[in-house]
Amino acid sequence: MSAFGRSGNPLITPSPLPYQAPPFDQITDRDFAPAFEQGMTEQLAEVDAIVNNPAPPTFENTLAALERSGQTLTRVHFAFNALSSANTNDALQQLQEAIAPKLAAHADAIVLNPGLFKRIETLHSHRDRLVLDPEARRLLEYQHQQFVMAGARLSPANQAQLKALNQEDASLSAKFTNQLLAAAKDAALVIADRSELDGLSSAEIDAAALAATERDIAGRWVLAVVNTTQQPALESLTHRPTREKLFRASCTRAERGDANDTRAAITRLAEIRAHRAQLLGHSSYAAWRLQDQMAGTSEAVEAFLARLVPAATARARREAADIQSLIDRHRGGFHVEPWDWDFYAEQVRKARYDFEAHDVKPYFELNRVLIDGVFYAATRLYGVTFTERHDLPVYHPDVRVFEVFDHDGAPLGLFYVDYFKRDNKNGGAWMDNLVTQSTLLGTKPVITNVGNFPKPAAGQPALISFDDVITMFHEFGHALHGFFADQMYPALSGTAVARDFVELPPQFNEHWALDPQVLARYALHHESGEPMPPALVDKMRQAATFNQGYALTEILAAVRLDMAWHSLPATAPIQDADVFEASSLAAAGLNLPEVPPRYRSSYFLHIWANGYAAGYYAYLWTEMLEEDAYAWFEEHGGLTRANGQRFRDLILSKGNTEDYATMFRNFRGREPQIDAMLARRGLKTAAGK
Ligand SMILES: [Zn+2]
Repeated sequence: MSAFGRSGNPLITPSPLPYQAPPFDQITDRDFAPAFEQGMTEQLAEVDAIVNNPAPPTFENTLAALERSGQTLTRVHFAFNALSSANTNDALQQLQEAIAPKLAAHADAIVLNPGLFKRIETLHSHRDRLVLDPEARRLLEYQHQQFVMAGARLSPANQAQLKALNQEDASLSAKFTNQLLAAAKDAALVIADRSELDGLSSAEIDAAALAATERDIAGRWVLAVVNTTQQPALESLTHRPTREKLFRASCTRAERGDANDTRAAITRLAEIRAHRAQLLGHSSYAAWRLQDQMAGTSEAVEAFLARLVPAATARARREAADIQSLIDRHRGGFHVEPWDWDFYAEQVRKARYDFEAHDVKPYFELNRVLIDGVFYAATRLYGVTFTERHDLPVYHPDVRVFEVFDHDGAPLGLFYVDYFKRDNKNGGAWMDNLVTQSTLLGTKPVITNVGNFPKPAAGQPALISFDDVITMFHEFGHALHGFFADQMYPALSGTAVARDFVELPPQFNEHWALDPQVLARYALHHESGEPMPPALVDKMRQAATFNQGYALTEILAAVRLDMAWHSLPATAPIQDADVFEASSLAAAGLNLPEVPPRYRSSYFLHIWANGYAAGYYAYLWTEMLEEDAYAWFEEHGGLTRANGQRFRDLILSKGNTEDYATMFRNFRGREPQIDAMLARRGLKTAAGK
């Protein structure tokens, strides 16, 4: 007899395991589809009960009831996300495609339910007369805003128009994604003469030969094109005409006038978004989209960018001059072009800092980095401790589970790590919840950190790069945001915050990787146990400020394009993509000939299809916040329990229960400033010049 009731489906009922950890040893792929269906049916019935309640709306019978709804669906969703992203297979992938439109329709059925919105609207209009604690008040305002942003207030005719525009946006986004994939494939550079690949390693040349074989042009070499404007091979190709050809192929990949030319799709997408915003009562898509973000308005984003552009471009111009003088010393006889930048920058870097990734790897053994680095820093700052558990089921043998205890010994949650690369795992690294903290639901957090670090051969230590070390600290920063969550309502809990705030805790946590006390504890040679030599530590620190004029300028140019496209009013005529891009960059002083945007408009996947429309700035915005927060730590004695507790109390434990700007001001004692961010990138002196 199963422990899971008559259905036998372990997803239908709450898990009997500690912290309601998913019973991964009981769940089979077949359980998901019926559990999703049941979860959606249950939640729709719960929403119907709220709407049909004859009693007048109260916070308790409407908003709290909505927060309690959908618990089965949430449970299924979290378990499914974990498996389909980190340990997938054909059955899960098929279900993923089949379930996505159903989940979208389910979400619409709630947010565009007129009876439900009417109750929320009534409560919202009486909000000053209701007796609500601050978190309940925040939930009322937040949910009301989310419903309004989705179009709950529109007439049925306008809602129909909005839905049609949303659908056109969704299908054009999908078309753009497919066009771009094909365009990037077609843009790959085919080389007939091996000498044109001089400078690449033999492994890279072998890979290029293999790529040619796969395309049935054996005997040649193929250099594929990656997402960004600059291409990895440009750093080492010595043959200048090859560099130019590869760069031009990248830059014009989606502008060849063929079926994969994306310019018609993106100009229409910009137009659709302006019309959607107009229907929703806003002057532009950016104005609509930024409402629930920390920045709040396009003007705030523009003012932020305007403060960064002079420092970044001044430094980029100096870097260009450095590169030009190197070219001249080598009697190159040409002016530096974008396809020369990475090649010469790499030579300057090697000459100046003289260290390679493989010099530091022996000091970064994964388990030591986790226990004596990531966990150690958290213990010093927050007093939390960790005990590995071997009694809880995992979805793959590489997964490890730790129980997390608070500074007073109270249980805080479960932490799963799944660090090694697998073929059935998505790329990159991420944090996810398996269970979200909520006092209302009586749940404590269960959190995963997933990575793609190389798995060592049996019996060998897992040595990782410094980038991977930073990734571990980063993802654990997200985890702390989840563990320290102290919310009543799940919609406001932990990491459920704005896009331009959510990267603050993880980026902040990265700093502890290079803290002298933390580094001394974990960066020990895996054989000798010797600490990393101080000279090597210094080189690592100094290299962090190299080439930052270019790095920041190319991001700013991409941010500029995102904001320009999404600030168009609905009355604007459809744009010529090339003219619009060039004039937008020129108007912002970001048209440096040697520093093209990190993504040009025609291949800017983030903003056209990946949810970052009017949001690419968030990466830089959170960098400002976290650098400024870390500067506070530096001003107040760094790695101490008292400092950690303050950061936890004022930021990490708050979820989305307070206005973001207020939260930050309460911690920092003032508005955020960009000085620390510029200093970290080595750009501060450029700001005044
Ligand atoms: Zn992150």
